[in-house]
Amino acid sequence: MKLKGAILVLSGPSGAGKSSLYKKLAQEFPNHYFSISSTTRQKREGEIHGVHYNFISKDEFEAGINNGEFLEWARVHNNYYGTSKAQVIQALEEDKLVVFDIDVQGQINLKKAFPRHTTSVFVTTPNKSILQERLGGRGSDGDSVIQTRLKNALDEVKSLPNYDYLIINESLDEATSKLLCIARSAFCKASLYELESFLQNWEK
Ligand code: ADP
Ligand code: 5GP
Repeated sequence: MKLKGAILVLSGPSGAGKSSLYKKLAQEFPNHYFSISSTTRQKREGEIHGVHYNFISKDEFEAGINNGEFLEWARVHNNYYGTSKAQVIQALEEDKLVVFDIDVQGQINLKKAFPRHTTSVFVTTPNKSILQERLGGRGSDGDSVIQTRLKNALDEVKSLPNYDYLIINESLDEATSKLLCIARSAFCKASLYELESFLQNWEK
C-alpha cells in the first residue's frame, strides 16, 4: 500500500489558536482532510457533530478502544479524545494533506504510526497571560474549565522540543503565513518517497 499524502499535526495549549489557523489553512488547501476526532467531552456552542468532533458517550468510546478502531487515543482534561484509523488511511491514499489537531501524547503516537509522513507543529501564544485572555475571550468555557486548561498549558509547552516547528501565534496573519509554508514543505519531505519505486522511475 502506497500512502502518498502528508500528515500535518497541530498541537498546543487550548486557546493558542489551532482552530483559527486551521480555518485559514483549509481555504488554501482544498485537497486536505481534517481528521475528525471522537470525544466524550460536552459539545460547545456552535460545534457540530461530525464536523468539529464526533461527540460520543464514554461507553461508545471504550468499545471503540476495545475494538481497535483508534489510531491513537488519550485522556485530556478528564475526557477521552481519539483518532479513527480508516478515514486517515484513505485520505493518505488519495494524496491529501491530512491535518490533525491533537494533544502532545497523540502527536507522539501518530509519529510512531506514520514516521515518514508526519510533520508536527506546536502552536502557542507568546505567554500565559495572553492565553488566559484568549480563553476568556472565546467565551466557550466556564471559569473552572479555563483554570484546568491553564494548569495543563505549562506541561504542554514543555513538550515543545518534540515538535518539528514552532509557531508563536501573536499576529494571526503572520502565524497563518508560517503555517502555509510548513504545510507546503510537508509534501517535500524526502522521507515521503519510497526509495525503490523512486529509483525505478528515475532510471527510466
Ligand atoms: P484553539 O483551537 O487552539 O483552542 P482557538 O483558535 O479557538 O484556539 O483560539 C482561541 C481564541 O483566540 C479564539 O477566540 C480566537 O478567535 C482567538 N485568537 C486566535 N488567534 C488569535 C490571534 N493571533 N490574536 C488574537 N486572538 C486570536
Ligand atoms: P478541545 O476540548 O479544546 O477541543 O481539545 C482539548 C485537547 O484535546 C486539545 O489539546 C486537542 O489538541 C486534543 N485533541 C483533540 N482531538 C484529539 C485526538 O483525537 N487525540 C488526541 N490525543 N488529542 C486530541
